[in-house]
Amino acid sequence: MAEKRDYYEVLGVSKDATDEQLKKAYRKLAKKYHPDANLDNKKEAEKKFKEVNEAYETLSDPQKRKMYDQFGPDGPQGFGGAGGPFGGQGGYYTYNGSGFDGFDGFGDFGDLGDIFSSFFGGGFGRNARKSQGPRKGADINLRMDITFEQAFLGIEKEISVTRNEECTTCHGTGAKPGTSVTKCSTCNGTGKVRQVQNTILGQVQTTRTCSNCHGTGEVIKEPCETCGGKGTVRKHPKIKVKIPAGIDNGQTVVLRGEGEPGEKGGPKGDLYITLRIKKHSIYTRQGKNVLCDIPITITQATLGAELEIPLVDGTKAKYKIPDGTQTGTKFTIKGKGFKGVHSSSQGDLIFTVIVQTPKRLSKEQRELLTKLAKTMNEQPPVKKRGLFG
Ligand SMILES: [Zn+2]
Ligand SMILES: [Zn+2]
Repeated sequence: MAEKRDYYEVLGVSKDATDEQLKKAYRKLAKKYHPDANLDNKKEAEKKFKEVNEAYETLSDPQKRKMYDQFGPDGPQGFGGAGGPFGGQGGYYTYNGSGFDGFDGFGDFGDLGDIFSSFFGGGFGRNARKSQGPRKGADINLRMDITFEQAFLGIEKEISVTRNEECTTCHGTGAKPGTSVTKCSTCNGTGKVRQVQNTILGQVQTTRTCSNCHGTGEVIKEPCETCGGKGTVRKHPKIKVKIPAGIDNGQTVVLRGEGEPGEKGGPKGDLYITLRIKKHSIYTRQGKNVLCDIPITITQATLGAELEIPLVDGTKAKYKIPDGTQTGTKFTIKGKGFKGVHSSSQGDLIFTVIVQTPKRLSKEQRELLTKLAKTMNEQPPVKKRGLFG
C-alpha cells in the first residue's frame, strides 16, 4: 500500500490545530477537491478528496487523533491495510489497499456528496459519522420569499426541492434490473469483520465494518445503470407548502419527511422552509399589529371626517376621525391586524393621520382661506425682507 501522507499535512494545519481549524480546513479542501468540481481531472481529485476525508475522519475524532498522534497512521502494531484503526466507522472512507472502494463510479459517491451538500445547508456533521443502524435522512433547509399580503392571509405555494429519491429503475436496490443483490461473502452478510490484533497491550479482538460491503452485508454485482448502484437519484420535485396566515419574517415551516431519504430503513429527513417577507409600500408590521400612515386634508383634520382605510386583505374599513384632529394622531381599528399562527387572537390596524398642507390652491380656495384667516385674527403675511434684513 502506498505511503500515507501525514494527516496534518493533508489538511494543511498544525499539530495543535483546534477542532474549529480542522473543520475549516476540511471544508475548504473538500470543496476544492470535490470530484463534481473537478470534472477535467476527476481521478486525481477523487484521490485527494478521499485523502482529505480520511485525514479529517481521524483528526476530528479526539480518540483517534490521540492514537494517531501517538502511533502514526498505521496504529500500534502497524495493522494498516483494510481501514486500519482509522477507517471510517461505517467503512465509507476506508482504504482497502487496492484502490478506493466504491470510487470507480459515482455510485457510492452519493454519501460523500451528501456531506458536501450539507455544507450549504449548514448542517455539518450529520453524515460525517456513520452508524450501523437505520439513519434518518438529512434535513433540507430552504428559503422562500412571500409578500406582506401572503403572510397576512396565508398561502399555498409550490417550492422546488433538490433531493435524492428512490431510483425507479431498480426500486432502490441499486442492482441492475434482472440481477439481484447478493450476500457479501467477506462478512457473510453480517456487515462486520472480526480481527485479532497483536498489539503492545496484548491480543485485542476488534470488530469493524466490512469494507467490501460497507456494512450493508450485501453486494451489488451489476449496479443499476440509472443510479450507479446507489439506489437513489437526484431529483427536483415541486412540493406544495402551506404557509399559515400570520407567519412572521424569519419563521420556519417544517414539512416532516420531505427531506433526504433515510438509510437502512431510517426515516426521511425533514424540509425546513424559512420565510422572508418582502417589505410593503404602505404597511409595516409590529408584532401582530399592522401600522400605516393615512394622509388627510386640512379640512378633514379641522372639521372631522369619515375616512376609508385600506386594509391588508384588500377591503376597506370606514373610520370617523373627530374635528380638530392633529397630524400624527394614531387611531386603532380592532381585529384588523395579523392573525396568530398558534392562537386565534388577532392584532389591530393602527393608522397615523398625516395632515397634508395644500401646495396649490385655486383662486377661490385662496380667497376662502384668506377669509378664514381673517376670522381667526391672524396677522397678514409678513413682508419679505432681505436675508440679513
Ligand atoms: Zn437504480
Ligand atoms: Zn461485507
